[in-house]
Parts: sequence; structure tokens; C-alpha cells
Amino acid sequence: MPDPGQSRNRRTAFQSAADLIPPGASLDELRKIASGCKACPLWRNATQTVFGEGPENATTMFVGEQPGDQEDSAGRPFVGPAGRILDDALQDLGIDRSKVYVTNTVKHFKWVPATTGKRRIHEKPNAREIAACRPWLDAEIERIKPKLIICLGATAAQALLGKNFKVTKQRGKPIKSDIAPNIVATVHPSSLYKIPDPDERHEAIRQFVADIKKAMRLVK
Ligand code: SF4
Repeated sequence: MPDPGQSRNRRTAFQSAADLIPPGASLDELRKIASGCKACPLWRNATQTVFGEGPENATTMFVGEQPGDQEDSAGRPFVGPAGRILDDALQDLGIDRSKVYVTNTVKHFKWVPATTGKRRIHEKPNAREIAACRPWLDAEIERIKPKLIICLGATAAQALLGKNFKVTKQRGKPIKSDIAPNIVATVHPSSLYKIPDPDERHEAIRQFVADIKKAMRLVK
């Protein structure tokens, strides 16, 4: 595994994933092409591209930030601890996860090594990485044409709703957009399982589920 510090120092040209996307490509073709994407430096230290998954006729799309450690290993979005919170929320609401499309703003795991041990610590993608990867998300949205996009966390919300969007102030409120008829933002589930106090964690998860429940009414 290459050292992330070395990679950061290496001069790497940023491109845009847009150059890789053939017009009219299907979702499966996009997934295949994205598996070889090197448009920004994040591919270097990740195991694989983690493209979105779900049916092409999904009415709802969930967009997170980037794959985490377990997603990077599995090659699937939202399969780690944050994914389990999302799965539980969907189950509580009687929503079949296989009927929604789940993806991320950035398709490779960005991480730094822990100061001790072998753990890989999540690092937030920067604006250039988000911009380089954006065409993949746009292409997914274009193919799926969701009626509702639920942004999980600030990275997804600011990518789709502008950098001044504040999840803390505007969470749960439907926003009309050219991107999709409705966009709703809530917190990223990774922020929930890290809350140490059980009562606070329980309440934060309750609010997260309530945001999704309210949002899903828009497509019923
Ligand atoms: S993060 Fe996105 S743009 Fe960067 S290499 Fe991965 S797929 Fe390509």
C-alpha cells in the first residue's frame, strides 16, 4: 500500500471525470468505466472505486460523502457502521433499501494512517477532488432521474445545494432544484454512531429517522 503522505507530495494533475463519460452510457457502463477513473489523486491510496448501487428506476437517491474503510474494502456504498444506521432507519420506516439508489459525492476513500496501529482514518475530500468526481454523480442523477435526493451530510448537501448550505440550520427542509424535484439534507449517519452519550445518540438517530420519514412523504 503506497504511503498517503508521499502521494500527497507527488505532483498529480487534476482532471475531470467528465472526460471519461461517453454520452448515452448506461449506468452499468458508467460503473465499469468509473472503476478505472484516475481523474484525481484519490484512486492512488484506495482499494477500488465505490460506485452507487440501486435500481435505475429508483425514485429516491441517497448521496453521502465518500466511501469509508469498509466500503473501500467491499466496493459497495454504505456497508460499514454508517450504512448500518441508514439500513436501520430505512427498516424502521418500512423502506426496502434495494428499491432506493445509494451513492456518494466522491467515489474513492480518502484516508490518512492512524498515528498508532494500522487503522485508516477518514479524511474529508477537498473542493478539487469533489469537483473532479462530480461528473460521476451528475451522470448517476441523469440516468436515475430521482424525484427525491436525500443528502447525507454537509459534503453532499453543499455539492448539490451550494457551499453556503448549512445542514444544521436547513436539515429536513425540501428544496426545489433543477437537479431533482426535491432535495432534502440531513446529517451523515457516521456522525451519529460516534456520539458517546447513549441518550444523545438515541435522540440524534431519532431526528435522522424523522428527517428521512418527512422527506419520503414527498415521493409517496
Ligand atoms: S475520487 Fe472520483 S474523480 Fe477521483 S479518481 Fe476516484 S472516481 Fe475519479
